[in-house]
Amino acid sequence: MLQGKVAIVTGSTSGIGHGIAAVLAAQGCDVMLNGFGDPSAIESQRASLARQHSVRVAYSAADMTKPGDIRQLAAATAAQLGGIDILVNNAGIQHVAKVADFSEERWDAVIAVNLSAAFHAAKAALPHMIAKGWGRIINIASAHGLVASGEKAAYVTAKHGLVGLTKVIAIETANQGITCNAICPGWVLTDLVKRQIEARAAAQGIPYEQAHDDLLREKQPMLQYTTPEKIAGLAIFLCGEAASTMTGAALSIDGGWTAQ
Ligand code: NAD
Repeated sequence: MLQGKVAIVTGSTSGIGHGIAAVLAAQGCDVMLNGFGDPSAIESQRASLARQHSVRVAYSAADMTKPGDIRQLAAATAAQLGGIDILVNNAGIQHVAKVADFSEERWDAVIAVNLSAAFHAAKAALPHMIAKGWGRIINIASAHGLVASGEKAAYVTAKHGLVGLTKVIAIETANQGITCNAICPGWVLTDLVKRQIEARAAAQGIPYEQAHDDLLREKQPMLQYTTPEKIAGLAIFLCGEAASTMTGAALSIDGGWTAQ
């Protein structure tokens, strides 16, 4: 159980982040939610997590492309929930195009959300963890943090960078009761991936279901999507005592994608 711990989960209004926030709350953690979306839907998500698990749940609309917003997210968490014990750097976006056609604005945005945000958030959270002599930083990287695919230059670069940042933080905090690890999922059927399936179906003139199956067949020996709940299970393990000497690792949960 993580009773009394305080967690920030960036990008937790949807998909994997939402799944991790829900499981942390179920473990007794107070949680700071973050991400974009319809304000009334976010408020009902916040209130229902708090009610269901009898924990404090707050929300920050911080834009993870903005270092000032990220500092405010950390400050608001410490002020409202009493510290920062767990940081899950999860917010992420994708853009698919060949390098020669890749928009510079999209490159900057993908690097900002998927990589720089994790640096700014860790920088802001670490003093709180060091003060308590306990902390967990979990970076949601990707199979694309370990291997590449075409047409995803910014995403692959950001996720490889995130795995590198994970190792540096692990080394720097090795004797301060803090661990930092990366989780590297394969395909998870969230909005981020549904948009890629829709684009693929449209580009190839094939039904959504066929594009959905093709995506798996192309990369994953195990022909099923990982779920946010399974990734949350790994995150909870990393927060527990059994994982207290595990740090700097990049853990695949990818149906065999990177075993090939
Ligand atoms: P998603 O689109 O369902 O959720 C992304 C979340 O990030 C949302 O809450 C969104 O509001 C938030 N977000 C986006 N830009 C933001 C910004 N500027 N500031 C604050 N919040 C922002 O996607 P997902 O699939 O759940 O992805 C979550 C993470 O998992 C990402 O880092 C992604 O790269 C990674 N991942 C996903 C898959 C997959 O197959 N879905 C695989 C490997 C890794």
